[in-house]
Amino acid sequence: MKALLVYPEWPDTYWSFKHALPFEGKRSVFPPLGLLTVSSLLPRSWEQRLVDVNIRPVSDADLKWADVVLISAMLVQKESMLRILSRCRERGLRTVVGGPISSCMLDLPLYADHVVVGEAEELVADLVTGLENGTAKPLYQAKELPGLNTTPLPNLDLINPKYYSSMAIQYSRGCPFNCEFCDIIEIYGRKPRAKSPAQMVAELEQLYARKWRGPVFIVDDNFIGNKRKVKELLPVMAEWNTRHSRPFRFYTEASVNLADDQELLQMMKDASFDRVFLGIETPAEESLKEAQKMQNTHRSLLENVRRIQRYGMEVMAGFIVGFDNDPEDIFDRQVKFIQESAIPLAMVGLLQALPGTQLYRRLQKEGRIVCDGDGNNLDLRLNFKPRMDPQRLVDGYRSILQRIYRPDIYYARVRKFLAQYQPHTGRTHLSFSDCQALARSILKQGIFSRHAFSYWRLFLAASTRYRQSFGAAIRLAIMGYHFQKLTQLTVNRD
Ligand code: SF4
Repeated sequence: MKALLVYPEWPDTYWSFKHALPFEGKRSVFPPLGLLTVSSLLPRSWEQRLVDVNIRPVSDADLKWADVVLISAMLVQKESMLRILSRCRERGLRTVVGGPISSCMLDLPLYADHVVVGEAEELVADLVTGLENGTAKPLYQAKELPGLNTTPLPNLDLINPKYYSSMAIQYSRGCPFNCEFCDIIEIYGRKPRAKSPAQMVAELEQLYARKWRGPVFIVDDNFIGNKRKVKELLPVMAEWNTRHSRPFRFYTEASVNLADDQELLQMMKDASFDRVFLGIETPAEESLKEAQKMQNTHRSLLENVRRIQRYGMEVMAGFIVGFDNDPEDIFDRQVKFIQESAIPLAMVGLLQALPGTQLYRRLQKEGRIVCDGDGNNLDLRLNFKPRMDPQRLVDGYRSILQRIYRPDIYYARVRKFLAQYQPHTGRTHLSFSDCQALARSILKQGIFSRHAFSYWRLFLAASTRYRQSFGAAIRLAIMGYHFQKLTQLTVNRD
C-alpha cells in the first residue's frame, strides 16, 4: 500500500508566523507532529510519502503515486483540506481524515471516504486492516482516551527539519480546567495523560540525532495540567539538556496558575524554557467567571506575568473580546493590560463558539448560533449573536489591534519587556542563521520602513542596556513585523 500523508496549509493566523518566517529563511513554524506519529503506527510494509503543504504543494505526481491519502488537520486548515479532498475525489483516490477537525466538522463524511474521530493510537490498527481488505468503515471513533505510554516516536524521516523554525514534541494531552469556550477538553478530556520521562528523553535523543539545535515547542495545550508529573519530568530534561551543552530551548503553553508555583518556575528555568503561552483571555473578572476560567480569577494577572518573566520566560498570551459580561470599556482595558504587562506577542481574538464546546451548546439553546465558525480568531465574521452591538464589538476589536501593534507602541512594549525580563541561559552569541535574520530585519525594518526610528530605539536599547537579551529583542522585532502585517490585513477586511 502506498500512503500519501498530507498536512494542509495554515491560513494567515497568529500561529502561522507567515510574515516572520522569511526573515529566518524558513517555510513553516513546526512540523506536522500528529501525522509523523500516525506514520510510525502504519505497517512497515507500507510505502509512505509526506507532503506538508506549508512547505510545498501536493503535486499531481503525488496523487498518481498514492493508493490512499491520509490527512490530519485542525479546523483553521479546513479550506486547504477541502481543496485537497476535492482533487482526490476527482481521481477516485481513497481518503482518510483525522486530527482535531474530525471532532468539530460534522459534515466531514460528505467530503472524505473515512473519518477518524479520536486519537490515532486506538484506531490506526483497525483502519489499516480495513484499508488492506477493502472493508474500511466510513467512521472510526475511539471509545476511550488512550494512555500515552504506547505512543511511538514520530517518524522524522518524512521531513526535512531545515525547513522548520522549531521542532515539536508532545508531552501530554488533556487539561483539568473547564473553560466554556475550549474544545481541547472536549477532544482530549480533563484528565491529563502524559508520557514518561524516558519517552521524553527518547524524543530529545531523536531530535539531537537528526542534528536539530534550537527551539523545541512542547505542543501540549496545558503543559502543567499535572504538576506532580511535570515536576518528575523537568529535572530529567534539565539534566539531559545540560549534559548535551544545551542544544534546545523549550517553549510551551500553560495555565496561569504556573505563577503560583515558584518551585515549578525554577524547574522550567533550569530546563531551559524561555517562552510560555498563557491563556489570559481578559482582565475583566466578570467575563472570566462567565467563561468558567476560574483559575484566572482572584489573582493579580499583572503580577503573575511579571513573576514568570522574572524566571527568564517571555510570556505570550491569548486575549478574547466578545463575552456577554464584557464591560463597555473592555477594549481600553485590554490595551492597558497588554501594555502594562509587557507581553509583546498578544494574540487577541474575537470569541468564537466552536462546535462541540459548552459555549456552543449554551448559545445554541439560547438561539444565538449563526454559523459554525472556522477556528480562526482573526475572522471578523461573528459566529454567534453577541450581547454587545456586533458592529461596536468588531470596531472595538479592530481598535485593540491597531493600538497594540502600532509600531512605536509595540517597540515600547518590547523595551518594557526587556527591562523586566531576566534571561537565564547566558547565551549572547548569535548563530549564523540568527545573523541572517538580523541582516534581513535591519534592511526591512530599520532601513526600508516608515517606522525605522522606533526600530532603532529598540535596537540601541538591546545592544547597550539589554545585551544579554539582544537575541530575544531581534526575534521580537521580527515577530512584531508578522503581527503588524496581520493587523493591517485584519483591520482592512470588510
Ligand atoms: S486552561 Fe486552556 S486548555 Fe485548559 S480548559 Fe482552559 S482554555 Fe482549555
